[in-house]
Amino acid sequence: MPILEQTPAQLAVWLVARGYPTYRAKQVFEWIFLKRAADFAEMTNLPKGLREELANHFSVFTATTDHQQSGDGTEKLLVKLADGGRIECVLLRDGPRRSICISSQVGCAMGCVFCASGLDGIERNLTRGEVLEQMLRLQKLLPTDERLSHIVMMGMGEPLANLSNVLEALEVARDPAMGLGISPRRITISTVGLPPAIRKLAEANAPYHLAISLHAPNDPLRTRLVPVNKSIRIAPIMEASEYYFEKTGRRLTFEYVLLKDINDTQECARELIRLLRGRVSMLNVIPYNPVPGLPYETPRPEAIHDFRKILVDGGINVMFRQRKGDSIQAACGQLRRLRDRQTISSLDNDSESPDASRVGNLSSNFSGDFAGDFSGDLSNSEQIDAHKDQPDQPSKLVLPQIHESQI
Ligand code: SAH
Repeated sequence: MPILEQTPAQLAVWLVARGYPTYRAKQVFEWIFLKRAADFAEMTNLPKGLREELANHFSVFTATTDHQQSGDGTEKLLVKLADGGRIECVLLRDGPRRSICISSQVGCAMGCVFCASGLDGIERNLTRGEVLEQMLRLQKLLPTDERLSHIVMMGMGEPLANLSNVLEALEVARDPAMGLGISPRRITISTVGLPPAIRKLAEANAPYHLAISLHAPNDPLRTRLVPVNKSIRIAPIMEASEYYFEKTGRRLTFEYVLLKDINDTQECARELIRLLRGRVSMLNVIPYNPVPGLPYETPRPEAIHDFRKILVDGGINVMFRQRKGDSIQAACGQLRRLRDRQTISSLDNDSESPDASRVGNLSSNFSGDFAGDFSGDLSNSEQIDAHKDQPDQPSKLVLPQIHESQI
């Protein structure tokens, strides 16, 4: 049985039934989360008999992983779950930040037309332990003197469609004594926007950062790009977002994947201003990472520049993100699909290999600066404002850089 499916209280019951004191549960989880043990044999402050009993009943990890690394310090794991389901997770290094992007489901049911994750539909929710195992596997990629600093639930799947397992796992991620000790302010949940779940999350007494994947300023266009919008609509999402802000005090982020000639028009930018003006929020514009087989394209730099200028002039807090992990297809869902078509060995080459460079432009839907910029205070918007009149200053926010690294 996977030990990561057990709460400390459940493990304590198991221990007591075998004549061990409850504090052993805390020791076991300290070993796993703080000392990064992958095996009960390593837990040297437990009696040998207990280590053996634990090993007979439980496993620390249940999945197998394939690992990829890109030149910019981004690492990606393709995770094969015990039942054969496949997901992905990513570690990004950005200055002192060590951010991880975690999946919440095998596949996705939301059907966003431009996204690789949902192309094969949904298989199932991940369990609490499967979410935690991704975090621990990525943590093990770091040297022992480095810690994970940020989490974004932005990998494969819709986290709010698997809310209870995601919240259970994040509670462990927050726990400093028997978990990863990551502040909820450094944890971002990205959602397509499911109003009842947003309200539930607002009431969960856990001030996570919430990012809403908007992608369009009006319902007809959003329904075209994000089909579940048909039965949701933008207005109820906005109302639920206001509620989240009132309850948690956390400023929301709206994400907007920029698709050439689809949602990158000047009219869209002007509509966005009308939709977002007056809201305490940040707009995160992400140039699209092309997915093989899909007809969508990244806008030209001039179109991105014009789009940005209209928003900035309209007084919107806007950030244009630079992506990382391009050479390892760090967009969740992309590597998994690629592996359906190619042999694994051809992908295990380093990023200089012909294979890897061929797939390099698949790029990422998760940028290195994402999690870290969601501290929730308004200092970020000041930073962004400071950049708005200096488009040539070397910065993550400068458009020409995005394109140099991207195309
Ligand atoms: N289901 C959640 C979280 C997973 S998707 C959500 O919708 O937010 C995380 C983000 O990546 C979303 O904003 C999604 O629209 C975006 N995304 C997906 N595919 C992308 C691609 N090819 N290029 C850029 N962003 C992409």
